[in-house]
Amino acid sequence: MHQDLVSCNFKSCFQCCLETRMPLLEEDIQRIESAGFSIELFGENDNGFIVLKNKDGSCVFLENGKCKIYPLRPVGCKLYPLVYDIDQNRVIIDNECPNKGAFEEYLTNDGIIETLIETVDKLIFERNARILENQTT
Ligand code: SF4
Repeated sequence: MHQDLVSCNFKSCFQCCLETRMPLLEEDIQRIESAGFSIELFGENDNGFIVLKNKDGSCVFLENGKCKIYPLRPVGCKLYPLVYDIDQNRVIIDNECPNKGAFEEYLTNDGIIETLIETVDKLIFERNARILENQTT
């Protein structure tokens, strides 16, 4: 399992868990399912990507302002607010993050950047495989 990647110390902030569209890797799905949550509860298909579901405007795992699967949360949540901007073709800090100024140092962290790019590649690969599988079944 990935260790904490980007360290967010704004404990009372859960802006990134509101109206989430966080895509899930197969390894995220398996890890969360192995804790007893069924995919029907937390994931939905969005154009081939499996993304976190929302309930009442926030991620299904957000409870009283806290992530109830925090140690098991998706890799994308561990990397946030670093995200990949497809239009700019580079890693950026998400504009939606109210504390974005606190994460600038990560933009020069090669290990984190590499992990994020690998994660995006894997998400796209798994999405394409899912679409192909659906076409052939
Ligand atoms: S899994 Fe946890 S950290 Fe990720 S969006 Fe849901 S509540 Fe937030």
